[in-house]
Amino acid sequence: MLFVLHSPKQKDVESLQKALKCIVPPAFGDHKNCKETWCGFKKEPLTYKHKDLPHHKVHKKVHLTFSLDEYTTETVVKKLIPFANSQCNEALNSIVGSKNPKIRFYGSSESSDFLVACAVAQKNIGYSYINSTLSHLGIEPRNTCITHNSKLDKKGRKITAIIKNLQSKMSSPPK
Ligand SMILES: [Zn+2]
Repeated sequence: MLFVLHSPKQKDVESLQKALKCIVPPAFGDHKNCKETWCGFKKEPLTYKHKDLPHHKVHKKVHLTFSLDEYTTETVVKKLIPFANSQCNEALNSIVGSKNPKIRFYGSSESSDFLVACAVAQKNIGYSYINSTLSHLGIEPRNTCITHNSKLDKKGRKITAIIKNLQSKMSSPPK
């Protein structure tokens, strides 16, 4: 069996890095990375209201105390790309990659087929594939297992939603 694992494209990494740097700081009143062409604050600083924040107000009492750079490094962003990518195959490649890292070289062993099968199942039905597999083997998954897997699915869906939201903002900047 041959599986091709694509790494995220450089332009995707750069555009997501840019998106994160332009979207997070304005929520804390920092518009230095904003462009005049789309930033409402830069156009009308006195009357500007942030439409995506509660009561349209920036978080004045909560300062952005961490450096965003730490969260937008190439390594971090590359981990987010698969969630951001709408193309199924790329996301699947990433799951396969996580279960079957080239660095560990499981590719030469029989377990490789099972690891890829797990990745496909996870892509198709989420982490509940683990519960189903156990049931088929005659092992009833315990509540801890079921809850844990459903938490992982929920987390995945949340990240996907956040990234999609960021991407849509980048492709159609606010006016
Ligand atoms: Zn701005």
